[in-house]
Amino acid sequence: MINQPETEETIAALRAQGLYRTLNTLTEVNGPIVTVCGRKLVSFASNDYLGLSQHPAVKQAAIEAIEKFGFGSGASRLITGTQTPHSRLESDLAALKKTEAAIVFSSGYTAALGTLSALFGPKDVIILDKLSHACLIDGARLSGARLRVFPHNNLERLAHHLAWARETVGEGRVLLATEAIFSMDGDCAALQEIAAMKGEALLLVDEAHATGVLGPSGRGLVDQLGLSGQIDIQMGTLSKAIGASGGFVCGPKPLIELLINKARSFIYSTAPPACVAAAASAAIQLIVGPEGDQLRDRLWANIKLLWSRLGQSSVKPVGPIFPYILGEEKLAVQTAKMLSDSGFLVPAIRYPTVPRGAARLRIVVSALHAFQQIEGLTHLICNRESAG
Ligand SMILES: *Cc1c(COP(=O)(O)O)cnc(C)c1O
Repeated sequence: MINQPETEETIAALRAQGLYRTLNTLTEVNGPIVTVCGRKLVSFASNDYLGLSQHPAVKQAAIEAIEKFGFGSGASRLITGTQTPHSRLESDLAALKKTEAAIVFSSGYTAALGTLSALFGPKDVIILDKLSHACLIDGARLSGARLRVFPHNNLERLAHHLAWARETVGEGRVLLATEAIFSMDGDCAALQEIAAMKGEALLLVDEAHATGVLGPSGRGLVDQLGLSGQIDIQMGTLSKAIGASGGFVCGPKPLIELLINKARSFIYSTAPPACVAAAASAAIQLIVGPEGDQLRDRLWANIKLLWSRLGQSSVKPVGPIFPYILGEEKLAVQTAKMLSDSGFLVPAIRYPTVPRGAARLRIVVSALHAFQQIEGLTHLICNRESAG
């Protein structure tokens, strides 16, 4: 049994540091309006950038798949868990990312864990950007490879690690892993520079926040920069702009075949429900079509409005995540509370998710926000001293 006093001690310590967290239950979701504790709030906290989780065509695809296959998939993918929607989704993803093949996992997190631990081991070296998502860090650790971390987007340190890796790796391989749009800072990786300097190293790019949002037809940053041929492993999630749930890896056919045979988080887990795969395929159809272009136009108009209202007109926005740095943990929590009292849901992000003293509001815009909602939020943030 879990030791009661010890558990309580740990929780008390979290509370004392202001790091104790609880779950907020939403009782209703209607576009960007969510109901929490009986109050309707305009949410700037969802990663559903294009609002596709709410789209009638996406919902309809899920309903039809439920009628045909039932809800749960009943088995892992290698047994009887592969149904038409899973296979179709994998072709759709390969087409979206312009690769030979794709594989779908239950989540982006398990995609990273399964992929890194299947492909790399103690003989190898994995080099990561310091701000990489927890799934890349945990996957790299699980692989047993030697790890090197470079400060965020610091290409000089990266060059240093690459040189070290080349010297020491011997028979092993070197993997360089980074994100396209970083989830807490909202900025982009210097992907062109990284691709140019990687040499023999393999390159993995996690496009969790960029898929559906960046590049022509929402194919992501890799395609926008014309780098498809130079990225060995393209990874992402179905849970953000795609509005569904699950994770994916796209790449050459042998890579995908290897993952089907070796990725433990793929093999030893029940397949995602067919309706989830069907919904994701419907969302991808929208993303690459004219409606996707319209939604991205609306999203970018909202991003530009938010950035200009927060006094960032001189900086070119790179994506829908805007970190509004407040510094002190307490100030961030107070500001988030003030916003919530005024009808806006914006999370305060604190240590350990971001470094101490770099607490912030993490504002996420979507295509569904109305201009007035963005103006209401930014007015409160900019006038917060007077608002108290
Ligand atoms: C959200 C996210 C993931 C995890 O994806 P899930 O499908 O939510 O597990 C992985 N990588 C990055 C960069 C993310 O932002």
